[in-house]
Amino acid sequence: MEDTVDVLVVGGGPAGTPGAMALARAGRKVLLVEDGPGLGGTCLFEGCIPSKIFRDVASRRFEAERMGEFGLSSPQSSPTVDWPAVQKRCHGILRHRSEGALTMARQIPDLEVVFGRAQLTGPRQAVVMQEGERREVSFEQAILAAGSVANRLEIPGAELPGVLTSHGLIGIGFIPDSMVLIGGGAVGVEMALIFHLLGSDTTILQAGPGIIPRADEKLTGRLTDILRRDGVRVETGVEVESIEVVQSGHRVHYRQQEETATVDAQTVVMAVGRHPNVDALGIENTDVRADYHGVKVNAQLETDEPGIFAAGDVLGHPMFAHWATAQSLSLAAHLLGKPARFPRPETNTAIIFSRPELGMAGLTESAAEAAGIDVAVAEYDYRGDARAQISDNAEGWLRIIYRRDDHRIVGAHALVEGAADVMGEAALAVQAGTPIEAMAEAIHPHPTLTEAFGIAARSARAGAPPDA
Ligand SMILES: Cc1cc2nc3c(=O)[nH]c(=O)nc-3n(C[C@H](O)[C@H](O)[C@H](O)COP(=O)(O)OP(=O)(O)OC[C@H]3O[C@@H](n4cnc5c(N)ncnc54)[C@H](O)[C@@H]3O)c2cc1C
Repeated sequence: MEDTVDVLVVGGGPAGTPGAMALARAGRKVLLVEDGPGLGGTCLFEGCIPSKIFRDVASRRFEAERMGEFGLSSPQSSPTVDWPAVQKRCHGILRHRSEGALTMARQIPDLEVVFGRAQLTGPRQAVVMQEGERREVSFEQAILAAGSVANRLEIPGAELPGVLTSHGLIGIGFIPDSMVLIGGGAVGVEMALIFHLLGSDTTILQAGPGIIPRADEKLTGRLTDILRRDGVRVETGVEVESIEVVQSGHRVHYRQQEETATVDAQTVVMAVGRHPNVDALGIENTDVRADYHGVKVNAQLETDEPGIFAAGDVLGHPMFAHWATAQSLSLAAHLLGKPARFPRPETNTAIIFSRPELGMAGLTESAAEAAGIDVAVAEYDYRGDARAQISDNAEGWLRIIYRRDDHRIVGAHALVEGAADVMGEAALAVQAGTPIEAMAEAIHPHPTLTEAFGIAARSARAGAPPDA
């Protein structure tokens, strides 16, 4: 028997679930098919949430180690990490969140959630495989939200058992003595820092000239200095050639400025990006087009097969959970015939959960210049910041990028511990095109890290140095 639904959603991550719920709440008959252990996708099970749980543990350990600086003493200044307990707590949080999402979904009468694998068999048909059972489905519209898969370099040794991707690292059963991260993007830098703070001797091997490409160069340069000062080895301009097993674990062979070099580590992690998960979707049975960079869509996220849409990581970069959710909700509005404003890359935000955190919203100075926008930069040095001094995190910068012609803010980038929680203001300013004068006039609470936005904005307006 063939079921008929209004909308088939393939994938229960941030690009699938929010849109599926919004459509069903509006009365569309929706079938949401998820192939993983629960609703949540990469973000919940192997991405945002577990990595930030580890980051929180690492930060707590770091803070405990420097309690003496705050006039506190404790019988044990450097807590030992019970890694199985950390993993157990992590799994508990993931289960709780996943069950919560499923409970919420099951309360929506027009939403059916099925745990199985969906594959398109035609422009309006799909098959869902669930525990060996085959279910034929026909649909009016479909949303492909199948996410992405971690890349592996094709070099000798890439498939050795101790060579992990972020997927394996999230499930790791111990804290390695030493770790090499191949790749200095968001995941490589975050994981290097986390495991460094947990006690691993970590090295980042980055192919490009600097870490975290596409971020503000001044801030990533400063972050590189801080990482090196704090004991993370950062090598740039590196071409990794092979990995072999040695007695101490693994030896990574690489080339840097025509010289060959090696670095040994117990664990090697390939953090070399992700590619859209399009291989098993059955798109060959439709007019949907895709390549290694993702499914091809128009401005309304519709593929070349009318009625089939796509959202999130399956479209390629940018790959962030909040971006996927924003696309998912805009797409749902569009399918419901409502006015939908699809998210624009130039207003996207991101946080790198290094220490200090690096927050970004909108365009960098160089991206704005490359787009032909004449911009000025308002800066603030967090060394003088009250809140940062209180928590002994007084280092880093805020850089607000605004247009010279009408003073509208097009980007804001902050390197400071706590940046993750102050970037909402930047996101709103960039999205709304707030003039720098309005940010200067907003009354920012004291003493907080957000004060920096007001101080930097006032200095830009006055053309004078910061007033605090
Ligand atoms: C280590 C790491 C840390 C990260 N940290 C952050 C962070 O801090 N902040 C942030 O914003 N982003 C972060 N990300 C990125 C974020 O996880 C992704 O951008 C986000 O999950 C993308 O959402 P999505 O719904 O497009 O894809 P996914 O979350 O990957 O969901 C896709 C789902 O589709 C399912 N699926 C695939 N094929 C089928 C099929 N044929 N049938 C049924 N189901 C199928 C999969 O099982 C999966 O659950 C991180 C990623 C990693 C790897």
